[in-house]
Amino acid sequence: MEFDFDLFVIGGGSGGVRAARVASSEAGAKVGLAEEYRMGGTCVIRGCVPKKLMVFASGYAGAFEDARAYGWDVTAGAFDWSVFRPKLDAELTRLENIYRTNLAKAGVQIFDARATVADPHTVRLSDGQTFTAKHILVATGGRPFVPPVAADCPVMTSNEVFQMDALPKDILIVGGGYIACEFACILNGLGVEVTQYYRGAQILRGFDDEARGHIADQMVANGVNLHLGTDVIEMTTVDGGIRVKSTDGKERVYEKVLYATGRDPNSDGLGLEQVGVKLGRKGEVVVDDYSQTSVPSIFAIGDVTDRVNLTPVAIREGVAFVETVFKGNPTKPDHDLIPSAVFTQPELGTIGLSEEDAAEQEPIEVYAASFRPMQTLFAGRDDRVMMKLIVSQATRKVLGCHIVADHAGELIQLAGVAVKMGATKEDFDRTVAVHPTMSEELVTMKTPVRTA
Ligand code: NDP
Repeated sequence: MEFDFDLFVIGGGSGGVRAARVASSEAGAKVGLAEEYRMGGTCVIRGCVPKKLMVFASGYAGAFEDARAYGWDVTAGAFDWSVFRPKLDAELTRLENIYRTNLAKAGVQIFDARATVADPHTVRLSDGQTFTAKHILVATGGRPFVPPVAADCPVMTSNEVFQMDALPKDILIVGGGYIACEFACILNGLGVEVTQYYRGAQILRGFDDEARGHIADQMVANGVNLHLGTDVIEMTTVDGGIRVKSTDGKERVYEKVLYATGRDPNSDGLGLEQVGVKLGRKGEVVVDDYSQTSVPSIFAIGDVTDRVNLTPVAIREGVAFVETVFKGNPTKPDHDLIPSAVFTQPELGTIGLSEEDAAEQEPIEVYAASFRPMQTLFAGRDDRVMMKLIVSQATRKVLGCHIVADHAGELIQLAGVAVKMGATKEDFDRTVAVHPTMSEELVTMKTPVRTA
C-alpha cells in the first residue's frame, strides 16, 4: 500500500522534533509533523528553557550582595519583570523559529494543527486534512495536573507562570516536586514573598534524603516560607487574590497561587484507545522496550509514555525509535543511570541510587562532605554544599553521586560519565584533585561516614 508519509509525528516537542528530523535527514523517510501549539514543546516554550532563564535572573539578587561583600560598590535595585518578560518572549520565539527552520531544512513537512489518530495508519488534522502514514509516532508530552480543590479558582500552573503580566507581591506554591521547589527559589530570589505547602514530610520525594534535607534547610534560610505536612483544604476567589484554608488551621489571602502537583500524560482525545492503543492508569501510552504500542504501526516516546520524564530522555527515545524502525538497527533507549538536576538554589545534581535505595539493594559505604564553600564564605554567607558518594561494598562501584551546590547541574554531567562507566571509589580516589574547587571533595573523601 502507498502511504502519504513513511512517518507522521504528532507533537513538536523535543522528542517528536528530533525523531522527525533524524528519520528524514538520516534515514531518507518522508515525514510529516503536526503541532497544535508552538514548536519546541514544553521544554522550550513553557518548561526547562524559560525556567532556566528565570533561574539566572533570580540568581543576581545574591550575586549583588556577594559583590558588595567582595568590595564592589554596587546597589541592587528591584527586579523589573516588565523588562525581563518581553526579552524572554523574544528568546522563546527565536528558539521556536530555529526548531521550525531545522525541521524544514531536514525536509519535514510541518502542519500547524491538532492531529488525532483515525486508524492505525491514518491521522486526521483539525484543519480537515487527512493523511496516511506507514508509522505514526505519538510524542504529545504531558500537561499539568491540578487537584479538584483548586479546580474552580484561577490558580496558575507552570503553563501560565511565564506569562504573568506582573510579578505578585506574594504567592502560595503547592507541591514539593521539581517544579514547586524550583519556582519557590526563583520567585523568592526575584523578591516575591513565597509560601510553599507540601503535603509530605520532606520535599523532593525520591531523591537522596540527606540532599533533600540540605536543600530544604537552605531554601528556608534563603527566605522561602516552607510548610511541610501541609495542604490546601479550601480555596475561594476574593478581591485581591485567592483565600486559602489549609490543613494547619490557617487561612490567608494570596495574590497568586501556583499549583505544581505533577503532570499527566497528554493522551486524551487523540483517538488512541479507539484504534486499540493501550493506555495505563494515568493515561500513559503503554509501550514496549522499543517504544512500540499495542498497535504495531503506532509508537510513542517522551512524557506521554510516563517513563523517565526528562527532555534528554525523550530525545534519546526518539533517536532509538528511528534506529529501530528506519535504520534496521533495533535499539532500546537506555533508562539506566540518568544524571539529572533540580534547579533549586542551591542546585541538586544527582545520578544513580539514593543512600536509602542503595542500602535496600546491598551493603554500602557512604562518603559525604558538607562544608561552606570559599566563595560564599568569604562573602559572609552561611551557604553549605554537600557532596556524597554511595559505594557498593562488594564491587566498590559508585552506585550514586549526589551534589548540592551552585552549578551542581554542570558538575553532575561530568561525574555522571564516570558513574555511567562503572567507576569505583578507587577510580575517583586515583583522580588528582582540581584545587581549589568545590568538586575536589569528590576525589578526596577518604573515610566512609557510615556503612549500611
Ligand atoms: P513531581 O511529580 O516532581 O511532583 C509533584 C508534587 O506534587 C509532589 O510533591 C507531590 O506530592 C505533589 N502532589 C501530587 N498530587 C498532589 C495533590 N493532589 N495534592 C497536593 N500535592 C500533590 O511533579 P512536578 O509537577 O514538579 O514536575 C513534573 C515532572 O517534570 C517531573 O517529574 C520531572 O520529570 C519533570 N521536570 C524536570 C525538571 C528538571 O529536570 N529540572 C524540572 C521540572 C520538571 P507527593 O510527593 O506526596 O506525591
